[in-house]
Parts: sequence; C-alpha cells; structure tokens
Amino acid sequence: MKFDLHVHTNYSDGIFPPEKVIELAKNRGLSGIAITDHDTIEGVKYIFENKLIEDNFKIIPGIELSSIVDDEEVHILGYFIDIYNRDLIDLAIKLKESRVTRGHKMIEKLNSLGINISEDDVRKFAGKGFIGRPHIGRALIAKGCVESIDEAFEIYLDRGKPAYAGRYKLNLDETIGLIKNAGGLSVLAHPILISDRNIIDLSISQGIDGIECIHSKHNDQDTKEFTQIGIRNNLIITGGSDFHGDKMELLGKYYIDIESIKEFKDRI
Ligand code: AMP
Ligand code: ZN
Ligand code: FE
Ligand code: FE
Repeated sequence: MKFDLHVHTNYSDGIFPPEKVIELAKNRGLSGIAITDHDTIEGVKYIFENKLIEDNFKIIPGIELSSIVDDEEVHILGYFIDIYNRDLIDLAIKLKESRVTRGHKMIEKLNSLGINISEDDVRKFAGKGFIGRPHIGRALIAKGCVESIDEAFEIYLDRGKPAYAGRYKLNLDETIGLIKNAGGLSVLAHPILISDRNIIDLSISQGIDGIECIHSKHNDQDTKEFTQIGIRNNLIITGGSDFHGDKMELLGKYYIDIESIKEFKDRI
C-alpha cells in the first residue's frame, strides 16, 4: 500500500485545498497520505471535521515544524499528533502571529529595495491566511520581478539574502518534545537539506523517532545512505514527496510501502 507521508495543502504553502490533494493522490494510485502542513493543523482539522476520509483512502494527521539548531533551520515532521493538544494549538497561534510580523518586515525590505509590492499582493497567494516565503515568491513572479520561486529565494528570500527576515522557532529538543507530548512520532525531514551533518546525530540523541529517507530532493545514493543511518540507529524509515502543487509530477512518484512501517500501520 503506497503512502506519501509528506504533503502540503493551501492551509500552509501548498497550492491545492485538501479535497483536491486527496483527489489527485487517489488518481496517482496512492492508498493514503499524511498531511504535513508547515506550522498548522488547520488543514488536518478541516479534513477530519468534514469527514473527508474514506475507508479506501487513509489520511494521517501530521505537521511540519521548522526548528532551529545554532543558525540552521531543521524541519521536523510530526505524525499522529493529537490536533486538539493545547500546547500544539498554542504554538500554532504563536507561529502564525510571528509569520504575519515577519511578512510585514520582508515586504518592507522589498519596498526599500525598490520593489513595489504590498501585503494585498502577497495575500492573494496566501490561501488560508498562512503567510510563507513561497507566497511572497509567487507575488514576485506575478510582478515580473523573478521568473521562478527558486530565483525568488536565490535573489531575495533565502536566509542571508536582502529581503530575508527571521521568525519565531522552537529549538530542536523543544520540537521533538512537543510532538511526543502531543502523542505523535517525530521524523527528521529531508536530511539532505541539512548542511551540518552533526544535527542528524543530535536529533537521534534527543529522541527523534524516524528519518525521512525517500524524498523528492534525495537521489538514490542519498536514500541509501540515510536508510543505513536509520537502520543503524533503530529509526523509523519514512518517505514522501513534499508535494506543494507547483511540481505536479512529484505526487505518486515518491512514496513508501506503509506495510514496512509497523509503528504507522498499527496506528492507522
Ligand atoms: P517559510 O516557512 O515561510 O520561511 O518558508 C519556507 C518554505 O519555503 C520551505 O518550507 C519550502 O517549502 C520553501 N523553500 C525554502 N527554500 C526554498 C528555495 N530555495 N526554493 C524554493 N522553495 C524554498
Ligand atoms: Zn512548504
Ligand atoms: Fe521542509
Ligand atoms: Fe515540506
């Protein structure tokens, strides 16, 4: 049974609403997905409260949290979290507020660089009120300032670039602890994007449950290497596409056989 364990909706910076993502996933031959929106459980809540789950297609409640280690952003996936957990809800509120403030700062920086962009321009791309850098990127494309999201990050939005502004983030151990306390399993996301390899060991020593070995940014060698690290350290091996809707081909291409993950199978 093919499951994609890393999927975004328009409740964070994905393009499609949950209904559409589910329809697409079914058409691509998947038996289930995990919704792992950045910093929010609103999309998962919407799915469960509107009973969009069917017997023949499973949805795993998830989240993707950006934590900070020294100066590096490290993404942690949380699966089977209790979406009514008080600490998780409080964190989501705080993160949302911080995203609004950070959005203002980045727009001001772009304005001072001579780019005529407003909050309304960005909000047009921010589906459910969540403001992420990809939304600013899409607004920059619409303005004709850049040709792609990658270029928007490269020139303006990445850490260290002229329009970058930081936002509130938890530490790695706080993030892992929060997911655990919300009844979830924590997984180190797309480890290839972590430049300091010591962070993999650090996450293991801090009790991470799993490692994302299959991912759209991993080549075969990366998958092999991270799988070996996972097996050696007794971690859950997961996989997913990190589908956001802009690269349609990703959905259905990166998946894991859910039968291979006992901890997940038992909980579904
Ligand atoms: P934010 O959480 O609002 O700071 O935005 C970070 C998100 O932007 C990441 O989770 C990715 O989905 C996306 N992203 C980060 N870096 C890049 C990049 N270089 N090119 C394209 N998308 C990126
Ligand atoms: Zn994203
Ligand atoms: Fe990520
Ligand atoms: Fe992601």
